[in-house]
Amino acid sequence: MSLLARLARHLPLRWRSEASILEHRAIPDSLWAKTLAQYPFLAWRSLEKRERLRALSTLFLARKQFVPAGGVHITDDMAVAIAAQACLPVLRLGLGAYAHMGHIVVHPDQVVAHREVMDDAGVVHRYDEVLAGEAMPDGPVMLSWHDVQQARDLEHGYNVVVHEFAHALDMLDGHLDGTPPLPAEISKAHWQDVMWQGFDRHSEALARGEDTWLDPYAAEAGLVEFFPVVTEAFFVAPWALRADFSDVYTLLSRYFEEDPAALLASGDASEWHPDQGVFVGSLKA
Ligand SMILES: [Zn+2]
Repeated sequence: MSLLARLARHLPLRWRSEASILEHRAIPDSLWAKTLAQYPFLAWRSLEKRERLRALSTLFLARKQFVPAGGVHITDDMAVAIAAQACLPVLRLGLGAYAHMGHIVVHPDQVVAHREVMDDAGVVHRYDEVLAGEAMPDGPVMLSWHDVQQARDLEHGYNVVVHEFAHALDMLDGHLDGTPPLPAEISKAHWQDVMWQGFDRHSEALARGEDTWLDPYAAEAGLVEFFPVVTEAFFVAPWALRADFSDVYTLLSRYFEEDPAALLASGDASEWHPDQGVFVGSLKA
């Protein structure tokens, strides 16, 4: 019986304690190891944090419903891959941060959404938007499985799951503005100052026609898209973000209480061996 089916059989799981779920419904060792091997950035943290990520992922699978769309069949491998990436941004906050989020809708590929907006003159503009993912306030999260798998290419720091769940964190205070509720030691003014400086630098590089490694989409809508895109980079290409946007990296490191680049001696992700839990290259102090 699949992991999802075993979880579903024991609904309503909200009545079960977390300890019971973790004890009886844990993600199997082999599946977890396979997930870390396929998405190596999941493992770029201490053993303690990796165990926390696994526990959060188990609870995420128990609490969130996965809904297939467009003929996709959601396997255990897919569900665990999505859950683990979704839990990366809440290693500090815990799953309570996602309580307002609905189910996870998985499409095989990108989706064309038909949009209608009315301008100030009352003219309605209709257009199509191609989506790799979408997070709705108090609603479902849509993901293209094709795009979820693109995260395995670490070159560009692309990660649609982390992106959409970063939007979920941003929406926690009811405002989609690229500024999530902050811990006491980070002021809103400091957050916005650092983020806007990063945004401006990225926008200027794009305006000069530079071929930036950071997704140009980061410059699309102010901090609303800059925050999710640099959060993707923080978890998937941390060495690159630290090298090119050190202030943004430091700020996100304080916000997430994570320092994934610190484990990277040379920035060469191929050196990482998740089975060993260490890099072949020298570890930074
Ligand atoms: Zn977005």
